[in-house]
Amino acid sequence: MNKQDDRNDLEILVSEMKAIKSPLRRYLNELYAKYKTLDEGKVADYIPELAKAKPDWFSICVVKTNGQVFEVGDSRQDFTIQSMSKPFMYGLALEQHGREFVSTKVGVEPTGEAFNSIILDEASNRPFNPMVNAGAIATAALIRGEDPPTRLNRVLDMFERYTGRKASVDIAVFASEKQTGNRNRAIGYLMLNFGMVPPNLDESLDLYFQQCSLLVNCRDMAVMAATLANNGINPTTGQRAVEAQYIPDILSVMYTSGMYNYAGQWAYSVGIPAKSGVSGGIIGVVPGKLGIAVFSPLLDSQGNSVRGIKVCEQLSRELGLHIFNLSNQQSELLD
Ligand code: GLN
Repeated sequence: MNKQDDRNDLEILVSEMKAIKSPLRRYLNELYAKYKTLDEGKVADYIPELAKAKPDWFSICVVKTNGQVFEVGDSRQDFTIQSMSKPFMYGLALEQHGREFVSTKVGVEPTGEAFNSIILDEASNRPFNPMVNAGAIATAALIRGEDPPTRLNRVLDMFERYTGRKASVDIAVFASEKQTGNRNRAIGYLMLNFGMVPPNLDESLDLYFQQCSLLVNCRDMAVMAATLANNGINPTTGQRAVEAQYIPDILSVMYTSGMYNYAGQWAYSVGIPAKSGVSGGIIGVVPGKLGIAVFSPLLDSQGNSVRGIKVCEQLSRELGLHIFNLSNQQSELLD
């Protein structure tokens, strides 16, 4: 174990000791116990490596914007970030090119369609938004760098700022995505046809497959969500991960499109900007307050985690997190 790990372990221990007696932690434990036995849904298998996930993995993490971390269950189990990478990549593209240019390559309209649908906005030939595969591939194509390793390193550096720890790609998942990614390739070629992505499409697709194969755990994801909630500053390290001016851009597309064809129902019943991924994670951002992450690989037919949705619905209701809930006082569990 190197020094870095020692320090992380100590920090984790201190934060766990502080959190152990907290009512919020007790509450999260109860929520965890309630949904641990829910075994509806199916582990994603269209990317063969993802089918190796254990159906009973389950974790809930909350990170407050003051840096306090609350984690329950398999919070240190690594999994690949998948589509939860999309909002963060969108932020990086905005930083590199500015809002005006990015908006010529990817829109901000919800689709109401599945995450992998092969459609573009007919009026503009742009992908609808950066949260579906088409828009995410167009976003990956925007990431600057003179060669593929430079582009990948920029992406890894960005994720490190959000998580506060070393970022790495799961090579087996990357290979599996690349091997079976013909549908994403089809989306890419359609966009190439309309000049929405540059001719080095294979490199952009590789970067997209790599961003999806980034290894994270549930705690990392909650820290990343809390960083967005904290106006771009990672509350556990104090480091800025993204320029504050792009937080509204990121959170609004998460709010309208982060849950694919469940986005409307989610906005109604949970009411916070969110993003899910086919490895079973969901992140939610309560602006100014906290980040939530739930990890459970059992998915519903729309590709969202079944337990993840249930947990977030209950959390939002009981802690008064819905952003349009103006009458409810915030729960004292969050004091
Ligand atoms: N890598 C996956 C894909 O492109 C990501 C999809 C997802 O998480 N919804 O199909």
